[in-house]
Amino acid sequence: MFARTLRVSLCFAAALALAGLPALYSLPATAQDRAAGMIKKLDRDGDGRISASEWPKGKKAFKHKDADGDGYLTAEELGGGKGGGGTAAGNAGPPAPQSAPAAAAHKPPAGFPALYLVDAHSQMPGGLDPDTILPLMDQAGVWHTILSARNDRSPSDVAAFAEAHPQRITAAVRSKGRAFNEGTPQYAKLLNGQLSTPAFKAMAEVLLFHAQKGNKAPRIRVAATAPQAQATLDAAVERGWPFIAHYEFAAAGFDKGRMLDEFAALARAHPNHPFVLIHMGQLDADDAGRLIAEHPNVHFILSHSNPVTIGENRGQPWTNLFDGGGLKPAWRALIEANPDRFILGFDNVWPEHWGSFYLHQAELWHRTLATLPPAVARAVAHGNAERLWHLPPKPE
Ligand SMILES: [Zn+2]
Repeated sequence: MFARTLRVSLCFAAALALAGLPALYSLPATAQDRAAGMIKKLDRDGDGRISASEWPKGKKAFKHKDADGDGYLTAEELGGGKGGGGTAAGNAGPPAPQSAPAAAAHKPPAGFPALYLVDAHSQMPGGLDPDTILPLMDQAGVWHTILSARNDRSPSDVAAFAEAHPQRITAAVRSKGRAFNEGTPQYAKLLNGQLSTPAFKAMAEVLLFHAQKGNKAPRIRVAATAPQAQATLDAAVERGWPFIAHYEFAAAGFDKGRMLDEFAALARAHPNHPFVLIHMGQLDADDAGRLIAEHPNVHFILSHSNPVTIGENRGQPWTNLFDGGGLKPAWRALIEANPDRFILGFDNVWPEHWGSFYLHQAELWHRTLATLPPAVARAVAHGNAERLWHLPPKPE
């Protein structure tokens, strides 16, 4: 209960910061507590906000309350940010939680502002104003982002952005797209064009198995031995850039074992090169632990593995590292025993990801990292990314 209350309060802080409103800590506790209590009662997936399917009172009331129209009700929208407390929320809400945890929740956990984050993998789509990125990173406590082009965004835009902000942005080579999926001759042009641009200093995720997502995204399967995958791997190995593989192992069904073998063969073939499974490879803690034990060069990016992102991708078997307010015990144990193998990443893809969706996740990770031993938290938050991608640490 303590953790949940705290999380809701910090989400709320992020929402307020986004809206440019006064800080959380000056608001009356009663309105906040009522909104937090309501979220606690209705928030079945534990992402700290209420989706339409969690809302008991019908579509019309939901739409009415969803002030920013993002499809979720936050504490602020439930009356927690209105000073005296929204009347409707007040009538509908359960009794306010006890005051002791609420008072504690009004203070950020130790390390919340101090521990900076590095986002090891995000994407800059067409339609996103680049000028919004750095202010959002500042709000999220993210010092540096490794960024690749997505969709109709040209890689040269990302290169220019990284060159303008070398301390904050590293440009990553994009492989994604039809040329890669189909192995057409244009892929060499896309790859080599970026490789010959000095601003690029990383290789973005390579889609080796991507499950179909309804009518939003098709199934993509490119064998690691296919020429376009090999060319991408060779380029990364030559330059000492970690090779980030996107495999959705849990969605692979009968092919899971074969794909795991394929990935393990890559890691074994280049024992001194870092290999990274993004989105936790959709693996459970047992499978991840086995890979870690067998391959000293295998790592994991923690993207798409928390309730905020999973809420957006219902029906897909993403790994959920969280249970209620904190890390599941098996994952906590694995991360604490192998802190050099886990890397923070948000994998913002679409313009709408670069907003409250991102701030909610950053807040969740700030709070979660504060519960880990400090050396573990620093490694996961930024140290591993700095080591593997040779990023300069944040100046004092
Ligand atoms: Zn991915």
